[in-house]
Amino acid sequence: MRTRETTIEEVGPGIYFVTGPASNWTILAGGDDVTLIDAGYPADLDGVLESIASVAPRQPLRNVLVTHGHSDHIGTIPALVERHHVTVWAAAEEIPNVTREELHQIGVKDLLPKLILPRYLVWMVHAVRSGGLAPIEIRSVSPLVPDAEVTFSGIPLVPRLTAGHTPGHLVFEMPEHGVMVTGDALISGHATSLVSGPQELPAMWHWDAEAAHARAQTFRATTNILLPGHGPAVYPRDSAGRHA
Ligand SMILES: [Zn+2]
Repeated sequence: MRTRETTIEEVGPGIYFVTGPASNWTILAGGDDVTLIDAGYPADLDGVLESIASVAPRQPLRNVLVTHGHSDHIGTIPALVERHHVTVWAAAEEIPNVTREELHQIGVKDLLPKLILPRYLVWMVHAVRSGGLAPIEIRSVSPLVPDAEVTFSGIPLVPRLTAGHTPGHLVFEMPEHGVMVTGDALISGHATSLVSGPQELPAMWHWDAEAAHARAQTFRATTNILLPGHGPAVYPRDSAGRHA
């Protein structure tokens, strides 16, 4: 299924993976309401709303779970709070990054040496045009308890703290469905990457590159369907090394 610049894939009953223009989000709609995991850049608002409307036209959006506070994952949240009064959830360790009390995100200055490479320049122009440098105001975030199973929109899930990419990065396991949302802890493609398939973001994008690398190794061996923050869904046969 396609809307504007997004592709929507049902990866389990009531679990929809949406690949957006530059980053991805997941929609849970297995119950009476809808939960969004990650929320794209500020400019992805139409894509987020259209993708939700196309898979769950009657259920209200109630919750947004955040893997981490980078602007390509939380950009539409202020608009979603205003329009739908959603509750926003993240790991306690990530809340200061989401509310911008602290900012753990690469800046233009860090990228300058890379901008001689056309693919980085193309990525940055898209990021800036999509609101990547705009202030994002999220005032209230509720803490998710790592390792405790919780059900959102009819889908039981377990948030796992995977500090590395950011101080409180979470992945979300859905054990009943063999699905794991990996955020930026493991991706499968990126505008600045020359390869496709399961891969780690380069060290410069991480808060703690060593910890991020150690985490990523554990996901590569999983038999879950991986839903990354960037790039297509990864099915178990892929993570066995077909692309990697
Ligand atoms: Zn990120």
